[in-house]
Amino acid sequence: MSFEKIGLIKPIRDAISELGYTEPTPIQDRTIGLVLAKKDVFATAQTGTGKTAAFMLPIIQRLRDNKPLSPKAVRVIVMTPTRELAMQIEEETKKYLKYMDSSVALLVGGKSLEAQEKQLENGIDILIATPGRLREHIIKKSIDLKHLEIFVIDEADRMLDMGFVTDIRLIHAELQRRHQTLLFSATYTDKVRKLSRLVLRKPEFVETARQNKTIDAINQHIYLVDADRKAALLSFLIGSKNYQQVLVFTKTKKSADILVEELKLDGLKADVIHGDKTLAQRNKTLTKFKKKELHVLVATDIASRGIDIEQLPQVINYELPTVAEDYVHRIGRTGRAGHDGEAITLLDINDKEQMKVIERLIHVKIPRSEIEGFEVDITKKATYDDIKSNRPKKVYPKPTHSRIAGEKGGTSKAPQKKNARVGKKRKTTKRSGK
Ligand code: ADP
Ligand code: MG
Repeated sequence: MSFEKIGLIKPIRDAISELGYTEPTPIQDRTIGLVLAKKDVFATAQTGTGKTAAFMLPIIQRLRDNKPLSPKAVRVIVMTPTRELAMQIEEETKKYLKYMDSSVALLVGGKSLEAQEKQLENGIDILIATPGRLREHIIKKSIDLKHLEIFVIDEADRMLDMGFVTDIRLIHAELQRRHQTLLFSATYTDKVRKLSRLVLRKPEFVETARQNKTIDAINQHIYLVDADRKAALLSFLIGSKNYQQVLVFTKTKKSADILVEELKLDGLKADVIHGDKTLAQRNKTLTKFKKKELHVLVATDIASRGIDIEQLPQVINYELPTVAEDYVHRIGRTGRAGHDGEAITLLDINDKEQMKVIERLIHVKIPRSEIEGFEVDITKKATYDDIKSNRPKKVYPKPTHSRIAGEKGGTSKAPQKKNARVGKKRKTTKRSGK
């Protein structure tokens, strides 16, 4: 469904369209209508699936009457476990509100109670709070809860894991029973279920298809590399590690085509699927890849969607996707029954900011390192603020990488050839060893 069919009004659609949201995620698809219909909702969906917008977009729409606020009144409270999450939600909410008029405030620890009281004085439409601080203000009576229309418990599982159960119970006891309650959780545990029975009335349940593994089960790693050395590094990695079945993602059709030609020149069995290939062509390529007649499949996000290639040992992000969520789709294809998958990102300076967006999305800071012989140009190093701490280490993140460093006794020819080229090309840094 589209955001329009779900029932979101134009000013909200315009704001999210500017953020690059083209269509609702499954959880949004199924939750937004229920929130608009004033139902209590119990929703579980994996991290990174867009739960914030699933509740915030319809909430913003619900507030569009812009009712005048009496002193200390609050129309919506969103409770979330940590200050960082609260700040993230506030930031997103402000973006969603670009063409709307509701007010938002943050109520978290670390700021003075007095300053926050002042902020609440004239009333607030949407209050985003952590449990401890919210409870303090309720006790101090700096919030008037009589006007509360919607109460959201975000990341309920985490909140309970962090021991906030008493705070939540106390807060809940203070609320009058007229409001709508929305409970969001990444996992469906007994504790969450128990809480849901306490706080929800006749809830609608929304559970989006659980993937067989979470992001935690995927071994993620970033190699920092200059843009003009990426193709060489990719060939080198594939050759030296002797990858038999690797799916490589690019951002555009054009870069997919260019890359596959380079890989072929390096002697790798590679082919490409993207939107310009007919379905028949794509299927043929895919069959070869599944039979391991092709070792490398280069794909764009759109072409890879909906096709049956899952459970691969390795996924490589040659370029990052424009839509951060696609990163999750990409790496979700790794991992074979019972084994952890591996997802490698070749990160050049152009994608640095997007990498941060993705890390925020998946709530993981991915380790970064460089491969010997492919280090980032020293003269550009200053712009790579996050390299510095990694730079001096000559240690490789996983033992298997040590072979790359020396590459003596490498099993494949590709790295040897690669390095001949490396020697010629590289002028700014010196190769260690041979
Ligand atoms: P969750 O709470 O499920 O872990 P978030 O609500 O934090 O996930 O959303 C994750 C990211 O996805 C955010 O960066 C958000 O901006 C983005 N996002 C949310 N909905 C969409 C959408 N429909 N299209 C594209 N990106 C989206
Ligand atoms: Mg969330």
